[in-house]
Amino acid sequence: MTNVDVIVIGGGIAGLWTLARLRQSGYDAWLVESSGIGGIQSIASQGIIHGGTKYALGGKLGDSAKAIGDMPGVWNDCLNGAGEVDLSGVEIHTKTQLMWSTRSAVSRVAGFFAGKLMEDRMSPMARADYPAPFNHAAFDGVLYRLNEPVLNTASLMSELYQQLSDFCFKGNVILNADEPTRVTCQDRLSGESLEVNARQIVLAAGEGNESLLGQLHRRAPVMQKRPVHMTLLKSRQLPAVYAHCLSASANPRLTITSTRVDDATCWYVGGNIAETGINRNREEQIQACQKELQEVLPWMGFQQCEWSALMINRTEIQTPGNKRPDSCYVDAHGSVITVWPTKLAFAPRVASEVIGKLSEAGVTPSELQSARPEWPAPELATWPWLNTQWS
Ligand SMILES: Cc1cc2nc3c(=O)[nH]c(=O)nc-3n(C[C@H](O)[C@H](O)[C@H](O)COP(=O)(O)OP(=O)(O)OC[C@H]3O[C@@H](n4cnc5c(N)ncnc54)[C@H](O)[C@@H]3O)c2cc1C
Repeated sequence: MTNVDVIVIGGGIAGLWTLARLRQSGYDAWLVESSGIGGIQSIASQGIIHGGTKYALGGKLGDSAKAIGDMPGVWNDCLNGAGEVDLSGVEIHTKTQLMWSTRSAVSRVAGFFAGKLMEDRMSPMARADYPAPFNHAAFDGVLYRLNEPVLNTASLMSELYQQLSDFCFKGNVILNADEPTRVTCQDRLSGESLEVNARQIVLAAGEGNESLLGQLHRRAPVMQKRPVHMTLLKSRQLPAVYAHCLSASANPRLTITSTRVDDATCWYVGGNIAETGINRNREEQIQACQKELQEVLPWMGFQQCEWSALMINRTEIQTPGNKRPDSCYVDAHGSVITVWPTKLAFAPRVASEVIGKLSEAGVTPSELQSARPEWPAPELATWPWLNTQWS
């Protein structure tokens, strides 16, 4: 059996960023992923590196907005090749996304836009600079530019994997409560197992953390799921859009990001409509989204679009009332560290906190390099909407 310093379980953004930082710090660290590198939630996320603006729509800078405020700066350094992880090869969809309000919501948000609170995070755009589809005479709302980049999640995962593939293994991890640091990595196809012993393990398995904690007979920490019903539409005529549409509530009414699918532009629609859509079936959700888009962008024709929908869980530390946690969760119990990043954007903070927990526990880097056993590496995950059914 091989002995290493740390095993990270899960190859989503939390696991990959943590692995990168551990290896830089001299830890002999490996990662095990059961399906595809890129994770379940991470590859399916909208790729927005939030700075908290959307959490301040209620008019004040709450704990969520403060906690995430530093993240775009940390990511931008990485994207410029000058940060803690080199992301200079990642495709950036946009360096600044947009926030728009419909005419009916303008008066409500005017004070917020004008407030000091937001002045270094967003700036009003001159009408002459409005991009499509807002450069239309029928658009009578207001448009702001936010200092928040949007990344191509497939490119992000691929870039991280290129740097870390030597230390990644394919397999479904099974843990044993009597020996928590002994990791059994099962190849589902061959039925064979790889056994590795670590000084510390990091559970970064997203939704899979619940079952791993169960295998360790741990009742805490407890995970919550907050599903969203995302809508997808694609057409060659759609312009690429990266924007939040404001509503009367503190949540964006719609959050639209775009990717390329089959020579077409594909809009991926989240926001309030995705949160409220969890009790709608696929057809109902598509219809609800069509109605919303017609209301907020009435001059656009969506008749030529193909539609789809995706229900997916966000998994986080449990909070009272199943609310979104303000920050990421990282906690250590003996030799097991459990993490839920809450947001893609929080991955750098997760990794720093894991390293902090290791040093608190006296687990210092051994600077060893265990030889890689003969064992398959995981594939890269692909966007779930590449295999979806369109109608
Ligand atoms: C639709 C959607 C949109 C979002 N948009 C944004 C956004 O724009 N910006 C933002 O900041 N955040 C966003 N988020 C939140 C963000 O995506 C998540 O917080 C983050 O990606 C979670 O990362 P993770 O690594 O913990 O989990 P995941 O990405 O789910 O990765 C966990 C990995 O663990 C693996 N695994 C599970 N069990 C085992 C096991 N037993 N053995 C081995 N491997 C295992 C899984 O296969 C998976 O690959 C969004 C989330 C969703 C669902």
